[in-house]
Amino acid sequence: MAEGKVKALQSSKFWFMEARKSIPGGVNSPVRAFQAVGGEPFFVKRAYGSKIVDVEDHEYIDFVGSYGPLILGHAHPAIVRAIQEQVTHGTSYGAPTPLEVELANLVKTAMPSIDLVRFVNSGTEATMSAVRVARAFTKRKKILKFEGCYHGHGDSFLSKAGSGLATLGISASPGVPEEVAALTLNVPYNNLDAVRKIFEKEGKEIAAVIVEPIPANMGVILPHGAFLSGLREVTREYEALLIFDEVISGFRLAPGGAQEFVGVRPDLTTLGKIIGGGLPVGAYGGRSDVMSLVAPLGPVYQAGTLSGNPLAMRAGIEMLRQLQMPGFHKSLDETTHRFVEALRITVKRRNWPITINHIGSMLTVFFTGKPVIDYASAKTSDTKAYAKFFHEMLRRGIFIAPSQFEAMFISSAHTINDLSKTADAAEQILEKMY
Ligand SMILES: *Cc1c(COP(=O)(O)O)cnc(C)c1O
Repeated sequence: MAEGKVKALQSSKFWFMEARKSIPGGVNSPVRAFQAVGGEPFFVKRAYGSKIVDVEDHEYIDFVGSYGPLILGHAHPAIVRAIQEQVTHGTSYGAPTPLEVELANLVKTAMPSIDLVRFVNSGTEATMSAVRVARAFTKRKKILKFEGCYHGHGDSFLSKAGSGLATLGISASPGVPEEVAALTLNVPYNNLDAVRKIFEKEGKEIAAVIVEPIPANMGVILPHGAFLSGLREVTREYEALLIFDEVISGFRLAPGGAQEFVGVRPDLTTLGKIIGGGLPVGAYGGRSDVMSLVAPLGPVYQAGTLSGNPLAMRAGIEMLRQLQMPGFHKSLDETTHRFVEALRITVKRRNWPITINHIGSMLTVFFTGKPVIDYASAKTSDTKAYAKFFHEMLRRGIFIAPSQFEAMFISSAHTINDLSKTADAAEQILEKMY
């Protein structure tokens, strides 16, 4: 009996049951609950490198990577050391530190569009604050976003959004006043005509266009040739600001983010995920005339008890230093490319109804034969097939996101062996499915 009880205490099932008694749905972020794929989540005991281990000691090759931050894998020795060193000196001061200056300088060097940068605690805070500043600067109220893009859970962004909202089929969240929602305009991604049309009608009221330059929250989508430069032209013409939400793409695609990759310079940029080295961080920054409005330099209020947190700053500094190693992105991208090509060749040979979108070290396997270029086409995916694929992968020790509308992230900790095992498993599973 005692043994039975010990076993129960070690099971994910037990912890999920306990969690649901005290946490809504048992999780602190909705997608984690596995609702879209069915079944119950595993509870994590520890993680290292490319592996994540549950409380029952099952080990998985992890392609979720905490939804983006872990480009070096779990518990990278340099990051662990940096955090360990810092923690002995205290965890929060409520006073400025040289660490914040150092990280700000690393960000500015990586992204020349940023003159001034403010650190916050999450991507959500970064986008909310960026929009506030944009509204203050332009003295306009409306913002334009794209269907299926995700900008965190601020009230203004919870319409036709990606990530967990796409996963759960929530198109607008109760609790957001209609008056607030009405200030957010949505058009399809990659559709410059729709952008121009809406600007012709309401351009004088639009404070900013906010966009994931490379969307990854409706699965990975690639921008068409002139889409992002077109956004730059339209916003300039109407004197609205262009905000690149690089919470995922920043430092993942290139040291200078998607803006370096595509050669378009936004007015404001939001960051998160990777710049925290796995600790909670966000940042927003950009043109000095706009960012000068932020308090205490200007009148736009934005603050944070734990902002610029020394542990997070220290982890972020170490992360960015690691990414500056010569050839880091090139090597990671090449590894990913080989993995994706192997999958693509198999899919093509068998004529399976699957589309793989890929850029840098992120990809999405969409269960549709049609090209996926926006939210509407992403939604043609067979999410039941995805759910089956997800569970079969999990059974073989491979963890991908429990939702069709997320990216698969490759880290520098993934070995060739991890990737070939994953490609083989995918082939076997799809063989059985089709
Ligand atoms: C994750 C994400 C956010 C929100 O960041 P949080 O840290 O989860 O609040 C915002 N924008 C994009 C593009 C993201 O991927």
